[in-house]
Amino acid sequence: MQPLEWDTPLFLMARAQFDQALPHADVSQMVVERLSFPERAVIVAVPLRRDDGHYQVFPGYRVQHSTVLGPTKGGIRYDPEVSLGECAALATWMTWKCALLRLPYGGAKGGIRCDIRALSPRELERLTRRFTSELVREIGPQTDIPAPDMATNEQTMAWMMDTYSMLVGHAVPEVVTGKPISVGGSIFRREATGAGVVMTAERACHRLGLELSAQRCVVQGFGNVGGVAATELHDKGALVVAVSDISGGVHSETGLDIPELHAYVAEHGSLDGYEAGRRVTNEELLELPCDVLIVAAREDQITSENAGRVHAKLIVEGANGPTTLEADAILAERGIPVVPDILANAGGVTVSYFEWVQDLGRLFWDRDEIRGRLADKMIDAFDRVWSVSDEKKITLRQSAMVAAIREVAGALEARGIYP
Ligand code: NAD
Repeated sequence: MQPLEWDTPLFLMARAQFDQALPHADVSQMVVERLSFPERAVIVAVPLRRDDGHYQVFPGYRVQHSTVLGPTKGGIRYDPEVSLGECAALATWMTWKCALLRLPYGGAKGGIRCDIRALSPRELERLTRRFTSELVREIGPQTDIPAPDMATNEQTMAWMMDTYSMLVGHAVPEVVTGKPISVGGSIFRREATGAGVVMTAERACHRLGLELSAQRCVVQGFGNVGGVAATELHDKGALVVAVSDISGGVHSETGLDIPELHAYVAEHGSLDGYEAGRRVTNEELLELPCDVLIVAAREDQITSENAGRVHAKLIVEGANGPTTLEADAILAERGIPVVPDILANAGGVTVSYFEWVQDLGRLFWDRDEIRGRLADKMIDAFDRVWSVSDEKKITLRQSAMVAAIREVAGALEARGIYP
C-alpha cells in the first residue's frame, strides 16, 4: 500500500509508542484498528494580503484524532515545519494525554505553515482571522476546541474567539482556551503546566521514598514550563542547582536564586550574561549530578548518545518528546524512572478543560480552587500510572500509554463505533 499522507517520522514514532504499549493494554483488535488513524484531517489554503500589497497563500492544517470521549482539543502552532504528519502525531499524543487525565476530550492539533518573524502583527491578526473562518465548520465548543501552541498565544486565541463569535452572531468564549482573562480565560492557566510538572515530581519522589524539599534539582528550559517549574520547586524548599535556556545554563552547588533569575530574564530577555554561578552548556547541564532532572525545553534532548551519562534519580518530562525511544530503553536499563510527557505536562490541558467548563457555566473559580482541582487530577492520574507500572513491571511511559489507551478503549467498546 502507498504510504498515507501522515506517515511521516513523527507520526510513525507516535504509532511505535502505541504499538509498544498494546501488548500490555489488553484491548480488542477493533480498538487497535480504529485508534491507529486520525479520524479527520483538513488542509486549508489561507489567503493573506501582505502589508506591501502583494498576495500570498499559506497552508493550514487541523487534524482530529479521536472523538470517542468528546470534542477534540489541541493547540494551534505557527511554524515553518507544520505539516499534516506533524499535526497527526501531536493530535494522537493529545488523545492519550486527555484520556489519561480523564478529560472528556479527544486529541487534535493544527497550525499554519509560516514563519512569524516574517509577518507583522497586523498580518498575523489577518492570517489568524482568515484561518479561523476557513475552519468554522471544523471547530466549535462541542466539536473541536483550539488552544495556543508554538508561536501562538493569548492574543491569537482572542482573535480566534472574536472571529468565531462574529460568524455565529454571539460571544462564544468556550470555542478556544488559553484566552486573556478579560474574554473568559482562566486564572492559573499560564502557570498550570509548570505547576503540574512539579506536582507529579513531588508524587514520584514520595513513591520513591524521597522528600521533594530535600532534593537537588536541575531544570532545562526557563520559559513558560521550566521557569514556572523552577519557581514551584524553589517555593517548596527544593534546591534548584542549575537552570538553562537557549543561551546555555547556570550551575551553583549551593542553589540558585530563582526569583533573581526571573528578574534577570525579564530585564535581559535570556539567561545570557548572568554572573552568579558557573556557566554550563545545555549538554553539560543534562549530565550534572542531581536528584531530579526536569527537561522542559524541547524534543530530542535525552538521546542514545547522552542517556548513559545522566546522573539523576528521577527524570520528569515538562517538554513534549524530550526523550528518544532509544534513550528510554537505556534509562529503563539503568533504573532511572521517567515521568512521561503525557502525564507530567498535562497540567496545561487540564486547566484548559477547567477554562472551558467555567466558560460553559459562566461561573468562574478562584486560584485556590483551580490549583486544588489540578492537584487532584494530576495525583489521581499519577497513581493510576504507578499502579499499572507496578503490576505489569513496565516503564512509566508504557504504563501511561496503557492507562490512556484503556480509557479510550472502554468508551469505544461501549459505543461500538463500527458500522
Ligand atoms: P517557551 O518558549 O516558553 O520556553 C522554552 C524554553 O526553552 C525557553 O527558555 C528557551 O530559551 C528554552 N530552549 C529552547 N531551545 C532550547 C535548547 N535547545 N536547549 C535549552 N533550552 C532551550 O515554551 P514552553 O511553553 O515552556 O514549552 C516548552 C516545552 O513544553 C515544549 O516542548 C512544549 O511543547 C511543552 N509544553 C508546553 C505546554 C504549555 O502549557 N506551555 C504544555 C505542554 C507541553
